[in-house]
Amino acid sequence: MQICRDLPSLRAATAALRAASRRLALVPTMGALHEGHVALVHAARGEADAVAASIFVNPLQFNASDDLARYPRDEEGDLAKLRAAGCDLVWMPPVEAMYPPGSATVIEVAGPSAGWEGDARPGHFRGVATVCCKLFLQTGAEVAAFGEKDWQQLQVVTRMAADLDIPIHILPVPTVREADGLALSSRNRFLTPEERATAPLLHRVMTEAAAAIAGGAAVPGTLAAGGARLVAAGFAPDYLALVEAETLRALDAPRADGPMRLVAAARLGTVRLLDNIPV
Ligand code: AMP
Repeated sequence: MQICRDLPSLRAATAALRAASRRLALVPTMGALHEGHVALVHAARGEADAVAASIFVNPLQFNASDDLARYPRDEEGDLAKLRAAGCDLVWMPPVEAMYPPGSATVIEVAGPSAGWEGDARPGHFRGVATVCCKLFLQTGAEVAAFGEKDWQQLQVVTRMAADLDIPIHILPVPTVREADGLALSSRNRFLTPEERATAPLLHRVMTEAAAAIAGGAAVPGTLAAGGARLVAAGFAPDYLALVEAETLRALDAPRADGPMRLVAAARLGTVRLLDNIPV
């Protein structure tokens, strides 16, 4: 597994892969890897001959400097997991290589960036879109795997690649969960044992709400009742909403003409949990 920390060595490594006529897939990550990230590597492998993972804690997508400072880092553990997953290349640039002094260009994706995480974290999707665009152009990958765990991010990146005619296929990968339903996340390690015991309720409430809505229950009442259950259990919900799957537009009644998603974010202690499921 080759490790590249500067752009010239990344370009040489990807050129060598391409010269061997190998289709390259990219798995963008911020490190602190878990089984969800490993699932992305396996899914990417299924669509390409070679897999590159990037590890870059992107300062542009954090709006609270304390969240950036406390974001978990584990380079040695990450590299061991990527090696075990059969990754061919790891791109781990320092911040100055990604954003040299004078950098002045950002990517703004309107549409699916609006609302939800876009409201909770102003500028977040600008940072995500900008770094993903750079990663796609830096690697020249034909495929990029993204987790459905971050549903809005997946839609933002898919929209950006389409709008900018970037020749890359965005591959969605289902959310990997603990046995009790909690979606794996690098931030789960900050839950206290009591919070960890409560955390799966988010997915349970969502699953029950999705089933009720699919069964014909009124959307606003079902979501309000779900939110109240979360509050009663100690969550501070930011949102629990039914949306059009691709545009993230809120729905107050089921649509008949396309896929829907239930999206939620709720704080539990100091951790903000994010989840979504199909309806
Ligand atoms: P992150 O390192 O948290 O920025 O995530 C990197 C990629 O891993 C993103 O595409 C995430 O959506 C994906 N990811 C994170 N958690 C999970 C999970 N539990 N299941 C599947 N993919 C995930």
